Amino acid sequence: MRAGRQSVDNSRISFCPSCADGILAIDLSLRLAAPMNETVAEWRSHPAHGKWAVAGVPKKGWVCLGVEDLEQERQTCGMCEKEKIRYVQHMWHADYPEVLPCGCVCASHMEQDYVSARKREQRMKRRARRTSSWLDMKNWHLSRSGNWIIRKNGYRMVVYGPPGRLQVAVTSPECGETTFGRKYYECLRDAQLGTLVAFEWAQRHPV
Ligand SMILES: [Zn+2]
Repeated sequence: MRAGRQSVDNSRISFCPSCADGILAIDLSLRLAAPMNETVAEWRSHPAHGKWAVAGVPKKGWVCLGVEDLEQERQTCGMCEKEKIRYVQHMWHADYPEVLPCGCVCASHMEQDYVSARKREQRMKRRARRTSSWLDMKNWHLSRSGNWIIRKNGYRMVVYGPPGRLQVAVTSPECGETTFGRKYYECLRDAQLGTLVAFEWAQRHPV
């Protein structure tokens, strides 16, 4: 059932009895204000486990310090201690001694802001898709001198140097000026990601 001002049926929601009231209050007040089509069913699938049920752990007023994409790794959400998360939101609270790595649903409740937590996760997902497509070797070719090259929007990015000491450079489309990165990379994958950073930098700093 979709939640709305007239359509919330509290009797159908079952929460951990030790913390149900608190979570329900937070959940419904936010849900009614949220522009996104959250459903009660979605929250039911993410029940009040872990620290949600622990007295003394703040349930609201958290702030997101930053986000992290674990890529292949998975971590258990620090708040519900149940959800396995790839996209981590590092949540901080003045009255809690440590920063908690949390998933999007818990983060949105802790922060009492559905939209921001969602947007942060969506940004990470977009970035992950972009990175994965950038690393796809079909987009790369090996020059005769042994350098890996990728082209995008007229920019030409190259990975060069001996194994273990790879560097990147970007050539802008307008004037053909090449900017050389100062950083060294041990492996090709990291250097290729370095070219993505160089590409984004070059777009922000047109010659
Ligand atoms: Zn969680």
